[in-house]
Amino acid sequence: MDAVEKKSLSEVHELLVKKEISAKELTESCIKQIEKTEQDISALLAHNFDQAIERAKEFDANPIDSPVAGIPLIIKDALVTKGLETTCASRILKGFTPVYDASAVSKLKTAGSIILAKANMDEFAMGSSTENSAYQTTKNPWNLSHVSGGSSGGSAACVAACQSFGSLGTDTGGSIRQPASFCGIVGLKPTYGRVSRFGLIAYGSSLDQIGPMTRTVEDSARILQVIAGFDKKDATSADVAVADYISAAKNTTSLQGKKIGVPKEYWADGIDDEVRIACENALKNLQSLGAELVPVSLPMTEYAIATYYIIAMSEASSNLSRFDGIRYGHRTKEFENLEELYALSRTEGFGEEVQRRIILGTYALSSGYYDAYYKKASQVRRKIREDFTEALKKCDVLIAPVSPCTAFPLGAKIENPITRYLQDIFTVSLNLAGLCGISIPVGIGHSSQLPVGIQFMGKAFDEESIISVAAALEKSQGAFPLAPLVA
Ligand code: GLN
Repeated sequence: MDAVEKKSLSEVHELLVKKEISAKELTESCIKQIEKTEQDISALLAHNFDQAIERAKEFDANPIDSPVAGIPLIIKDALVTKGLETTCASRILKGFTPVYDASAVSKLKTAGSIILAKANMDEFAMGSSTENSAYQTTKNPWNLSHVSGGSSGGSAACVAACQSFGSLGTDTGGSIRQPASFCGIVGLKPTYGRVSRFGLIAYGSSLDQIGPMTRTVEDSARILQVIAGFDKKDATSADVAVADYISAAKNTTSLQGKKIGVPKEYWADGIDDEVRIACENALKNLQSLGAELVPVSLPMTEYAIATYYIIAMSEASSNLSRFDGIRYGHRTKEFENLEELYALSRTEGFGEEVQRRIILGTYALSSGYYDAYYKKASQVRRKIREDFTEALKKCDVLIAPVSPCTAFPLGAKIENPITRYLQDIFTVSLNLAGLCGISIPVGIGHSSQLPVGIQFMGKAFDEESIISVAAALEKSQGAFPLAPLVA
């Protein structure tokens, strides 16, 4: 069978069920595709090929039924994987081999999917281009001199390059939606608490969520179906019923009666023309599917970036204190005393951006500044959440661009971290509010020739609505083209 790796997860699922292909053939074609494309894009860290083929053979001998059964997938290196090196793309965790699987990974394995490799990322998920990885920069399969986005850039690029049928990413302030948008694929950030964070190496614990990245909406629905749900190992995982996401994706074609809120602050100045044109075109498509566009406002948007970065860095400084050179991870070779052991191990192990954030976060949490920064940010966060609650009373879902620009050239904007932080303007609020969102490709920018993504944002635990609206839009557009690297 030709180019099976270029089919969608849902299509190959059907081929597997009909026994027109085996999991072993599927796994081998993904590995071949990795061998063909990986030197160009550098999307992957640790590989698991031999074990993946073994697991595929086991699956073929004893097939099971599930939405992802027999499907090769790739996992962001922020999730621990039993027996497979997990570094969070940091030198401080080089050589760390976990003894257990993150809950999301073990659910995928139990459902019969096959783990091929770990995906590159910004170190500790801090960044929006994957250039902060301590190991390599992941390139965009649409244009190798442009970034793949981040922090889940490896997870996005590997799916866009057809190295696997889907991946897991994590989203603290946009890290699933933005790289998905930059690489022309679908990325879904579930509601906070929807997917267990057990085994996810924490960045901003009150913001982090794990979610699927795939080539179609139904494919994301399939992965979410498997990883969603309460887990007693994560105290913040929610015991809320899991809906039938796959049917929501498959069966929605009309949007008659659906109200889609258009937050005016997200459609204001500062968006590149090519992004605006593609997104406005999507609005027209939604109307022709029967949806009503409702103007809404999220007035606290201007404070979102400052609020997000204070909270994320504060939580990061606390979470990353466990990397001390004693319990696990890198330890410096020569030291005079304990203080120096800590300082040197952390200086050698953490990259520049991680160090910057630890310092800023520690400052924001220090006595004397806590009230002015962390406490204030937490209060503003509540206001941001209230904005969303109000806006979502008037509509079923909200719609906005994912990023003000398409994937930028490698090395651009690297000089000034503030410029980078400002780019997250359309994604961070959703995490602060703890709600769900999905990014889907809606066009190709006329000047950059790179994909443009749009996001739907939904109420808490209402992934069903964002999936059904996104699926309807996707069907009306027709299949999104594959990246030039693999087309
Ligand atoms: N770009 C944002 C940051 O650097 C978001 C990262 C993420 O969602 N992990 O913090």
